[in-house]
Amino acid sequence: MARPPKFEEPAIEITPNPGPSVGIDRGVVHTMAISDGEMLDMPRLLSPGEEHRLQALERKATRQQLARKRGEQRSKRQERTYDQIAAMRARQARRREDWLNKTTTQIAKNHGVVAVEDLNVAGMTRSARGTIEQPGVNVRAKARLNRSILGMAWGKAGRMLVYKCQANGSALVKVNARNSSIECARCGHVSTANRIDQTIFHCEVCAHTANADTNAAQVVLQRGLTALSGATPGCGGTAREARVTVPQREPHAQAPTSRRTSIHHAGATPLGGEPSAHCGRYPAEGSSTAKGGDHP
Ligand SMILES: [Zn+2]
Repeated sequence: MARPPKFEEPAIEITPNPGPSVGIDRGVVHTMAISDGEMLDMPRLLSPGEEHRLQALERKATRQQLARKRGEQRSKRQERTYDQIAAMRARQARRREDWLNKTTTQIAKNHGVVAVEDLNVAGMTRSARGTIEQPGVNVRAKARLNRSILGMAWGKAGRMLVYKCQANGSALVKVNARNSSIECARCGHVSTANRIDQTIFHCEVCAHTANADTNAAQVVLQRGLTALSGATPGCGGTAREARVTVPQREPHAQAPTSRRTSIHHAGATPLGGEPSAHCGRYPAEGSSTAKGGDHP
C-alpha cells in the first residue's frame, strides 16, 4: 500500500529587519503621522468630477424611486442607476485599498520596529453612547470622529501591518494609546493644557513645541520601545498593556529562541542608553503632574 507522500512545511527564513524604529499615530487631521515628522495622507479617492457624478446619480436614484408606483417593479433604468452608483463606490473602495496597501508595505519594509496604537475601533464606535459613569458626553463630536475613523479604514491598515511586518521581519508593537495625544514626547508631562488646538502641541512644563500628531507618534514609539525592552516597572506602566506581534518562526527552526532574541536586538539596538532616560523622566514628571500640575 502506497503511503501518502509527506509534505514538509516550506522553511521560509525571515531575517530580522535592520531598519529604524517608527511610531505611528493614526490621526484625524492626517491619516497617519510618523514619528520622524512625516505625514501620510490618503489622497482624494474620487476626483471632483467623479464626486459630482456620484451625487448626480444618487439624486437620480431618489427621483426614480419616488416615481415608482406601489407594487411596481424596479425599472431597467432604475437598476442601471443603482449599478452605476455601485461601480463608483467600488472604485472608491479600490483606491482606498490601494493606498493602504502601498503605505503599509513601505512602513513594514523600512522599519525594524513598528509601534502603533492598540485601537479598538469597535469599542471607540460604541463609546459615543456613553457609559454609566459618563453618559454620552460629546456624542455628536464622537459620532463625527467615528465616521472619519471608519472612512480612513484604520482597522484595515492595522490588519495589513500585522501580516506585512511578519513578512518583513519587523516587530509590530501595539501600545495603549491612553493620553498619547496630551503627553509630551520630550519630558513626559501629561496635561490637556499641552494641547493648544487640533494641530499644535506645546508642553506647559518644558516648552516642547511640535505638531500634535507627530508628538503623539513619538509617544507611541517610546511606549513601544519600552514594551520591547521589557523595562516596564517604573517606566510609566503604559508598556504593560502593550501587545507585541513578532514574526512567526518557521516550524523547523534551528534555534527556537533565536527569533525572540533577534527581535529583542532589533528593539534593543536603538534603545541603547535610552531605558535609563525613560525611567529617569517618569519619576521626575510624576511628581509634578500627579499633584502639582497646577503649579509647575
Ligand atoms: Zn515637556
